[in-house]
Amino acid sequence: MTRRFWVFIEQENGQVHPVAWELLGVARRLASEVQDEVDKTQDQVAVEGILVGHEVEPLAEEAIRYGAERVYALDAPVFKHYRNKPYHAGLVSLAQKYQPEVFLIGATTLGRDLAGSVATRLQTGLTADCTQLQMGEVKNSPRKLLLATRPAFGGNVIATILCRNHLPQMATVRPRVFTLPALNPRAKGEIVHETVAVTEETAGAQVLEFIADAAARVKIEYADVIVAGGRGLGGPAGFALLKELAEALGGVVGASRACVDAGWIPYDHQVGQTGKTVRPKLYVAAGISGAIQHKVGMQNSDFILAINRDSHAPIFDIATVGLVGDLYEVIPAMLRQIRALKEARHE
Ligand code: FAD
Repeated sequence: MTRRFWVFIEQENGQVHPVAWELLGVARRLASEVQDEVDKTQDQVAVEGILVGHEVEPLAEEAIRYGAERVYALDAPVFKHYRNKPYHAGLVSLAQKYQPEVFLIGATTLGRDLAGSVATRLQTGLTADCTQLQMGEVKNSPRKLLLATRPAFGGNVIATILCRNHLPQMATVRPRVFTLPALNPRAKGEIVHETVAVTEETAGAQVLEFIADAAARVKIEYADVIVAGGRGLGGPAGFALLKELAEALGGVVGASRACVDAGWIPYDHQVGQTGKTVRPKLYVAAGISGAIQHKVGMQNSDFILAINRDSHAPIFDIATVGLVGDLYEVIPAMLRQIRALKEARHE
């Protein structure tokens, strides 16, 4: 038999959400973690993508380049726009046919909506918002199981959750929790076209028009530079200064939950356990104390510059460089330096 590690290749309007590629990287690692068991049996192991949409063949090829050996494609006009009923009917039918061992879905708005309904219909368990995934030996289990780790009880406990008795073992993971795997332009794989009995009449909802959000929403998850502010800003006006620094560095503005809760900045900017997970090359934390719920969202940044006037602030425990001082003195000084450097370059 084949032990299948599945990833849902989320796409919208022909664009794959990068979390799908991140999860293909994870699925490949998980598959390698059961290789020792597979070697002792006649079993095989496979990393496979599940793609639903309309005219999505090029995306299936892209999935192969990101590590899927095989892509099952449900390609029909009824799947053009996401609707829970057709999508979940499609995924459930494929899962019943192929019996995957593990099924990973991105914890995006779409993925969250879909994963819960698929797990319910398959009568299996789903661990949401995982921060670590591993195949591990478990007492009284003949095979390794998916050890799905996530923060629980407001981030005060890290829980590892098993789904012992049901398949697939399902998990969702937020964007940027795992790194993007390398793309192999020469990778070869198989695209399997599947059909499922879903029609416009049974779709449950009709998409009359798709209106893109007019307000350009920030996508801080994939920014290389984030300048984030906390309650230490003292008020919403402080974000204007952070925006100046972010623009000077070619980045975007992030925030702690304290600022979002206070209404200083919209939720799209929130970093942390109940906000976004980010992994920029540079994360500037200005006036942020470094509560655990904030740290879990940004601690994997390549370089963390913390600015805080309290030298004992916990953010300094994970900072690459810490500046003890008033952000209203430090940031204008940084801006002056950056502008002087830029001018010197142009001379
Ligand atoms: P504070 O903790 O008040 O820190 C302000 C800091 O600014 C202090 O360290 C202070 O020394 C410094 N400061 C003040 N003035 C200046 C100045 N002029 N110059 C320099 N430094 C200055 N938080 C998140 O951020 N993201 C989440 O997703 C999130 N999810 C949560 C989920 C749950 C279930 C719970 C219970 C909490 C969550 N929180 C989250 C809240 C978290 O616990 C903290 O309350 C929050 O992160 C604190 O924000 P802060 O660091 O901006 O504020």
